[in-house]
Amino acid sequence: MASIFTRIIRGEVPCHKLFENELVIAFLDVNPLSPGHTLVVPKQEMAELHMLSPASAAALGAALPLVAAAILKATGATAYNILQNNGAMAHQEVMHVHFHIIPKYEDGRGLAITWKPSAIDHASAAKLATHVKQELCA
Ligand code: AMP
Repeated sequence: MASIFTRIIRGEVPCHKLFENELVIAFLDVNPLSPGHTLVVPKQEMAELHMLSPASAAALGAALPLVAAAILKATGATAYNILQNNGAMAHQEVMHVHFHIIPKYEDGRGLAITWKPSAIDHASAAKLATHVKQELCA
């Protein structure tokens, strides 16, 4: 079944569209964390980022800074977060790739992050890096 974002792309569901080209669309989030909260979405219907074609991924990468700059100018915000969730466990609700652009305001409106870092274990990190590099070359 087509995702809600595919239905927006097809024009079957309305949205507050900010940007569109052959490969990407951007529109305001219907439940914003802050004014200007925007979703940048590839037209390719894939659930998670790593599944995208290089062309879709490149188009997203090109669109994100353009749209972000316009949002900052239009809202007056000077800070923002980019959020991109993959998988239900990672809080993805719409299974169609999307990047959130979330302006952050002085009064706290925007994305709230709980960040719990731990010290790196260099031995296991080195093993992991070797493994990932092998996968990248495979
Ligand atoms: P995520 O948890 O990353 O999958 O976020 C999905 C986002 O899509 C949420 O912030 C929703 O508010 C937003 N959303 C869902 N349906 C629509 C819609 N029809 N138009 C705009 N945004 C939507």
